[in-house]
Amino acid sequence: MTKGFTGKIIHIDLTSRTSSVERPQEDFYRRYGGGSAMGMYYLLKQMPASADPLGEDNILTVFVGPATGASISGQSRVSVCAKSPLTGAAGDSQAGGFWPAYLKRSGFDGLVISGRAARPVYLLLHDGEVEFREAAHLWGRITGEAEKLIRQELGDEKAQVMQIGPAGEKLVRFACIINMSNRANGRTGMGAVMGSKNLKAVVVQGGKKLELFDPVKIKELARWGAETFKDSNTYQMGLHGTANIIPGQNDNGGLPTRNWSSGVFEGYKEISGQTMSDTILKERDTCFGCVIRCKRVVEVRDGEFPVDPYYGGPEYESMSTLGSYCGISNLSAIAKANELCNMYGLDTISCGATIAWAMDCYEQGVISKKDTGGLELKFGNAAAMVKLVEQIGRKEGFGALLAEGSARAAAKIGPEAQGLTVTVKNQEFPAHMPQVKRSLGLIYAVNPYGADHMSSEHDPMYEPDTEFAGRMAEIGLLDQKPASDLGPEKVRFAHYTQWIYSACNSLCLCQFVYGPAWQLYSTGQMAEVISAATGWEFSVFELMKLGERTLNLQRVFNAREGFSARDDVLPEKVSQPLKGGRSDGVSVPADQVERAKILYYRMCGWNREGIPHRAKLEELGIGWTADLIGSQHVVADSSQVESPDEPCALPSSSKLFENEA
Ligand code: SF4
Repeated sequence: MTKGFTGKIIHIDLTSRTSSVERPQEDFYRRYGGGSAMGMYYLLKQMPASADPLGEDNILTVFVGPATGASISGQSRVSVCAKSPLTGAAGDSQAGGFWPAYLKRSGFDGLVISGRAARPVYLLLHDGEVEFREAAHLWGRITGEAEKLIRQELGDEKAQVMQIGPAGEKLVRFACIINMSNRANGRTGMGAVMGSKNLKAVVVQGGKKLELFDPVKIKELARWGAETFKDSNTYQMGLHGTANIIPGQNDNGGLPTRNWSSGVFEGYKEISGQTMSDTILKERDTCFGCVIRCKRVVEVRDGEFPVDPYYGGPEYESMSTLGSYCGISNLSAIAKANELCNMYGLDTISCGATIAWAMDCYEQGVISKKDTGGLELKFGNAAAMVKLVEQIGRKEGFGALLAEGSARAAAKIGPEAQGLTVTVKNQEFPAHMPQVKRSLGLIYAVNPYGADHMSSEHDPMYEPDTEFAGRMAEIGLLDQKPASDLGPEKVRFAHYTQWIYSACNSLCLCQFVYGPAWQLYSTGQMAEVISAATGWEFSVFELMKLGERTLNLQRVFNAREGFSARDDVLPEKVSQPLKGGRSDGVSVPADQVERAKILYYRMCGWNREGIPHRAKLEELGIGWTADLIGSQHVVADSSQVESPDEPCALPSSSKLFENEA
């Protein structure tokens, strides 16, 4: 068996409470890597088209990667995939912690979970075996309580628990999966899929030794990382958490405020990572083997919003969505809302963004106290925001409507409410603004699993004269452009770096540690880590192709579900001018993104509907997927597909793509 992997994938049928172990060949591991690509492979093979995401037919996959569990930074990540109940498209989310490394120790590379248990269960994996365990006594428990009960029951304080909270049980569409009670597979509602299967938790234990091809080389790379880290761009993130970027985001006019009506927030200092370090930070935390320690543990003992350190502390995204999005600068209230999200198992991004959208509706008179159950939903009302997080987690009161996500809730209220949503494919925007990071807007539009900020490199990293030029050159990106540009070179930048971010999701490597620009390890070093773990001569070319393969698997999945170019669009809200600060008056013109999108599709080898050509799928070694989406989509047809020789109808001059704002 290839080194780095255990060679075992466990298939679980919850309906019949049976399991079987698959031992794939080495070429399967090399082609799909792990994580998201492997997950999509099984979704395409086993999930019927048009399955109800909350029904028995949906498949939930949980995979780690070739280096997971090795003693080097940024390798302990897990990818969870299923059809998303939020988007209806491919669902995909990543988390760190200790659980991923412990899955390998339990003897498996991943799980493929089908069916639905008749009553609540949890799975216990250890020593290459699985046990189905009753979970009735855990159902309804918040995550911290359930984790403690499971560890008591097993007599093992080190057992790693990946679980859902009450939000997942109640099928909140943006429920997440939590491990360590504070690390979330946050996006696309994977917690609701677990809840629909009556699966409370997957617990991993054991001490199986991880066999690596070249442990000396891994040690050497790890030592280099530990020595270099203090001089790297990741150091500040370790010191003050991901929220260390808040002042910079605000200075650039890129801190989403009051439901994306502005890019500057007057209360930014109160919610910065530095302020958190100076006030409520109890300690820094980390994932298995990582020197960066970007995770926060906060504690608030007194006052209106006491916070239990068991549930960690807010990341940049949580600080923004539960803070500036809602016009809230009360740090304790944001930390409280973050704690509640982790207790109930809610994605902090969709949760905070949905509350901000509801506040906007309230401020504009689209909804009133009659709709909100008496809550005065004005921007800045911290108590109302915290109350709503709890209501969403319990699916009670006005929170029951918000538990559907802002797009579905808006559809129930009416067109005025729909005009205030900030979503793509029904998924709420994370806290990076296309108004000031133009290619990120393109990626928000085309990303198969909805708007996501960890799917490509951000525009400022490719500005002229940045220190990252050398690393970018490694992947053929030589012509830096301003962050406001969306010309052909920026489309190429988004396209290539999307492959690398996507490869990280399949190799299960942390995108703060490995990547094309500011990260601790370069793309070349990332390939070296995979080579040392597996014994493959893994190249940057192979790595980028893995990322491209992952994206194409996801696009095939979406095409089979009926998604096309009409779903790859930004919301109206971002084409309205922002107010205040450096981004005052800036908007994202819809036609600019449309033109970039057509060029992007062509670069991808996709047709005008954004569906991969058969030739592209064959080139990626996944030609078998072409038959899944129907010949009308993948065989050249003059109304849909351009001939490969047809000249691009778009002018090559970047003039047409310039920032028009
Ligand atoms: S950088 Fe942060 S999120 Fe990534 S592995 Fe290290 S501690 Fe975990």
